Amino acid sequence: MASSPRIPHRVVVIGSGFGGLFTTKALRRADVEVTIIDRTTHHLFQPLLYQVATGILSEGEIAPATRDILRHQENARVVLGNVDTIDLAARTVTSTIHDKTTVTEYDSLVVAAGAGQSYFGNDRFADHAPGMKTIDDALELRGRIFGAYEMAELETDPMELDAWLTFVVVGAGPTGVEMAGQIAELSRRTLKGNFRSFDPSTTRVVLLDAAGAVLVTFGDELSTHALHELEGMGVEVQLNAKVVDVDEHGIEVEDPDGSRRRLEARTKIWAAGVAASPLGRQLAEQAGAEVDRSGRVLVERDLTLPGHPEVFVIGDMMGLDGLPGVSPVAIQGAKHVAKQIKRRVKGADDVSQPFRYRDKGSMATISRFRAVASIGNVHLRGFIAWVAWLALHLVYLTAFKNRITALLHWAVSFIGRGRAERTATWQQVVARTRLQRLEETEAAASIGATSRPVDSLRT
Ligand SMILES: Cc1cc2nc3c(=O)[nH]c(=O)nc-3n(C[C@H](O)[C@H](O)[C@H](O)COP(=O)(O)OP(=O)(O)OC[C@H]3O[C@@H](n4cnc5c(N)ncnc54)[C@H](O)[C@@H]3O)c2cc1C
Repeated sequence: MASSPRIPHRVVVIGSGFGGLFTTKALRRADVEVTIIDRTTHHLFQPLLYQVATGILSEGEIAPATRDILRHQENARVVLGNVDTIDLAARTVTSTIHDKTTVTEYDSLVVAAGAGQSYFGNDRFADHAPGMKTIDDALELRGRIFGAYEMAELETDPMELDAWLTFVVVGAGPTGVEMAGQIAELSRRTLKGNFRSFDPSTTRVVLLDAAGAVLVTFGDELSTHALHELEGMGVEVQLNAKVVDVDEHGIEVEDPDGSRRRLEARTKIWAAGVAASPLGRQLAEQAGAEVDRSGRVLVERDLTLPGHPEVFVIGDMMGLDGLPGVSPVAIQGAKHVAKQIKRRVKGADDVSQPFRYRDKGSMATISRFRAVASIGNVHLRGFIAWVAWLALHLVYLTAFKNRITALLHWAVSFIGRGRAERTATWQQVVARTRLQRLEETEAAASIGATSRPVDSLRT
């Protein structure tokens, strides 16, 4: 009698970011079938989003197609879809794209859906102060930044001109510092000679934070150094300043004495606060697990969901020992999880090995040739830190072709003063908020429609 074909162990990976892609790649020689599901078609290198926003790199250089990266990995299948439901009891993941719903069954599940922007309960700020988490965000910001200069060229009212030429970055962590530094550089170097009715070097760049220091996690010495560098470049750093309101024309700030003041600025960029994917809460509710203040799932030491050894949560969605939301945590977590899955498939007895994180340090650029790096007890700053930053980012950029073109673009921007990727369209600037409004209108219409007979919807 012919034996029935063996069904390989089915691994479903949610997310093609650092956690998801590195898990999938680490399983390439395993006797498993991997399905990687993401709502985008690319693997995004988030640390370089700010360079897309400020016209240094193109979006393709930092976001190659996942399908192409995995083209030689025959045990991996790429599925486009927004995961809306994970059913732990049925062991299925449901994803949707347009009107197409896909249900994927799993034996092991790896959830690496990352984090989004948090506005600390003030989501309406997002309309006027976009964050920077996705390619859409970076392109919208590119449109807003370069668009502000175009509007300034047309402005005859000096107050309005000042508002177009004031850029406020909220959050003085690495992303905020990098954005503020790049806008300062753009205004002082790149845009020189581009305009006739104003001098772009008069641009006011304000970097705000509710904390008392920039780059707090880098320690006093590097934080103070970064502050001096930013100020030297003409960035106005305002610390202990809490944002209490944001509208189309400006931003309202509360100082430590409780007094409030307003900054007139057309361009605001939100680089403060993260919230883990809502899939984390969905998992926690089903498993009776806990989430932290940022919505990260408090996982077991082997990175599994409590009570569910077949489900792993990694990267920005996982809460363990206060580990930060940085790419090495996601990458090392991915490698650990892949190892656990391989051991299980081989039938190892000790299937629950604890995750051990090796801290390789952190880096932030301030502008061209200036960066800070904290690697164990070694603190680097200035040009040497910038070279270390450059080398590391080149190594981690996916695809050889992207490394070459990124290097060329860096040469254009850092040795020269040009920016090759300044193209922006009106749709990039308005599409997000217009789509949101359309969705709200449709949702309101469908609530009204539920009281009508179903047949009337078909007319
Ligand atoms: C602007 C910025 C700069 C950064 N700079 C640095 C840095 O310099 N150094 C550093 O180490 N770290 C940096 N980080 C952090 C680092 O990028 C993250 O820690 C890392 O990307 C986390 O990996 P992840 O796999 O958990 O999530 P991500 O890489 O965010 O991947 C999550 C994936 O899940 C997908 N997804 C989300 N929800 C769903 C859903 N419902 N259905 C389907 N797919 C979904 C997303 O599309 C995405 O592809 C930065 C982050 C940002 C935003």
